[in-house]
Amino acid sequence: MIRKCPNHGYFRGEVCKCGETGKYIMNTERTERMGRFLSGALRHFPDDLGLTMNKYGWVDFEVLLDVMKSRYPWASALNIKALVESDEKRRYQISNNDIRARYGHSINVDLDFVDNDLEILYYGASQEEADIIKETGIRPIRQRYIHLSTSYEKAIEAAGYHSDNPVIFKLDAFDAMDGGVKMMIANEFIVLSEEVPPEFLEIIDKNKSLE
Ligand SMILES: [Zn+2]
Repeated sequence: MIRKCPNHGYFRGEVCKCGETGKYIMNTERTERMGRFLSGALRHFPDDLGLTMNKYGWVDFEVLLDVMKSRYPWASALNIKALVESDEKRRYQISNNDIRARYGHSINVDLDFVDNDLEILYYGASQEEADIIKETGIRPIRQRYIHLSTSYEKAIEAAGYHSDNPVIFKLDAFDAMDGGVKMMIANEFIVLSEEVPPEFLEIIDKNKSLE
């Protein structure tokens, strides 16, 4: 569920990290339904819902709200904002009168390129995948972009769903971008990237201490 803490704003669950229970906003079932709707509308099939999306992935917030209300009469601008702000994976972004997904698109959108000082990025793979990656590099499979992690720990976490003992690759983002690989920041944990050729990748030896 989503609640609102007087000190920290919207949060998921029953109690904020500070111990406040705050004010009730939306139950778990509605949060999940709205999340699925937003993902479909902003990442996969805006056209099917009659939404106009610009090339940067933005959709008019009020129009989206109207479409959502036609399916879920309980939907409101406040619940959408609460969902977006309480999302720890920061999937969505609201700016002025527009909303978009930050990453995870299956449609073609032009997100903002990396422009800060991220340097070393990480990618976790199973041993079997790692053998292929050494030959061919990292390629997107189901999604349009590869999800690279901004820390070693996050790469293990991301790979953890698929593998018990992941192999972690690292790469220098600026070398790869100099080599023509396009990247963009999704959130503080994830950088989206086009295919990364093997020459930019190095396996981290877990027996050596990390830099
Ligand atoms: Zn709080």
